[in-house]
Amino acid sequence: MSEHEVNLGKAQTYLKKFSDKITGHYINGRFDTPAHAETFQNLSPVDNSSLGEVVSGTEEDMDRACEAARVAFAGWRDMPGAARKKLLNQFADNIAARAEEIALIESMDCGQPIRFMKQAALRGADNFRFFADKAPEAVNGQALYQDVHTNYTMRTPVGPVGVITPWNTPFMLSTWKIAPALAAGCTVVHKPAEMSPLTANLLAEVAQETGIPDGVLNTVNGFGETVGKRLTEHPAIKAVALVGESATGSHIMRQAAPTLKRLHFELGGKNPVIVFDDADFNRALDAVVFMLYSLNGQRCTSSSRLLVQKGIEAEFMSALIARVENLRVGHPLDPDTEVGPVVSQEHFRKVMSYMEIAQADGATTAVGGRAMEELGAGNYICPTLFTEADNSMRVSREEIFGPVLTAMSFDTEEDAVNMANDTPYGLAGYVWTQDVGRTMRLAKNLEAGMLWFNSENNRNLPSPFGGMKASGIGRDGGDFSFDFYMETKNVCVAHDLHNVPVLGR
Ligand code: NAD
Repeated sequence: MSEHEVNLGKAQTYLKKFSDKITGHYINGRFDTPAHAETFQNLSPVDNSSLGEVVSGTEEDMDRACEAARVAFAGWRDMPGAARKKLLNQFADNIAARAEEIALIESMDCGQPIRFMKQAALRGADNFRFFADKAPEAVNGQALYQDVHTNYTMRTPVGPVGVITPWNTPFMLSTWKIAPALAAGCTVVHKPAEMSPLTANLLAEVAQETGIPDGVLNTVNGFGETVGKRLTEHPAIKAVALVGESATGSHIMRQAAPTLKRLHFELGGKNPVIVFDDADFNRALDAVVFMLYSLNGQRCTSSSRLLVQKGIEAEFMSALIARVENLRVGHPLDPDTEVGPVVSQEHFRKVMSYMEIAQADGATTAVGGRAMEELGAGNYICPTLFTEADNSMRVSREEIFGPVLTAMSFDTEEDAVNMANDTPYGLAGYVWTQDVGRTMRLAKNLEAGMLWFNSENNRNLPSPFGGMKASGIGRDGGDFSFDFYMETKNVCVAHDLHNVPVLGR
């Protein structure tokens, strides 16, 4: 039996529990499927068959989850950091023990190839371990001395928080937000994406088997406009962390305004990769292909705008075309697959609409530009490369979020910077050059929250992760996460040496 067949067999076994019963919420330590609940079919991108029914939550369901998080908060906040550390490390071990199940279900639910998803659960476990180890010290602040006063700062968890996640790498992203919140001492209500709800359910199972106290982590399934909206409005919720589209960030800012919530947004991107004439040609080529076509192009940090310097344009583009033509598209559980189906029919239609937009705008479709019906009823799109584009075209400006790369050329360093910055977004940027002085100039001049020089996206958990402009507000990672999930309190204590101002004596 091939590895693909073995994966399929295992996935079917793991998925059976989702097809046999309705997937409900996880509220106050219990799996919860309200009687007569409305449901929706969760379709697999592989062939658009149903993986099972999922509860479409109501505002009342969300209220119950927020109330559970509110009640559980004091106990979780007051648990000693060392005890939280132990529990969250156990949580990580329990995720790792189910890594295969999580990876196979994730691939079938969101279409990401198993070659990438294999790591997803383990990375999720790493997120828990990293923040678990920091739990005991998260409270610590600074000592700020004055002559007759001493100030010290301490951090306290902000309260129950809402975490709203997208469908592109749902498990990894959920743990990236939830682990620091729990380590900080916050209780959490998680609203996973409606298009890929299954691994959030597994995360709740792991929480239960780890013995995370009731109400500390709650999961409510359903749509953004109903349960998501209610989560952002609920008075018990003190902060909301969203990973999603820029337009969703705007909605949430409005929805959360009456209750003055703290907000953290990781939003969309149209990230440039700039390849200069002096770049290491082969390494740059590998990275350009990887950073767009891995994860089906459904990656916030994908470099979806390629800027190539004129001196190497012809040679680089011809090598790139050959590589893109050669990408292996197929079933996500086939270990050879490099590009899988996009997440849903709706997203398929959105990505496909850019094929006509590119033509209308005058770009050249050098590779792809079509659906791959030969692969069956799934949402398969031929890896696509638009060339001879310019920065005014919609394919250069809008986040397509599929296996579609737009390439253009530039003359000078100044042109490259201007083109790279001429976008509403500012999440990530990638630069390939061997000129050290240029790396320093570009680090200063490029408008993006994260820059990589001579590298694809490299994950470093203590580093700040996040974007500027329409790509987000705030940073995650290391202590940056605690700054969001915790309040900093300044405590000022007098040495009893100063004169207290006197009035009315
Ligand atoms: P989306 O914004 O449509 O949905 C994200 C989540 O928000 C979902 O759970 C959805 O139900 C919920 N939601 C939608 N409307 C809401 C509302 N009014 N109130 C509350 N919740 C609401 O995004 P998506 O299509 O699921 O994901 C793709 C997007 O996510 C892309 O733009 C991508 O760039 C972005 N993303 C960003 C990062 C990052 O780190 N910057 C990482 C991954 C994905």
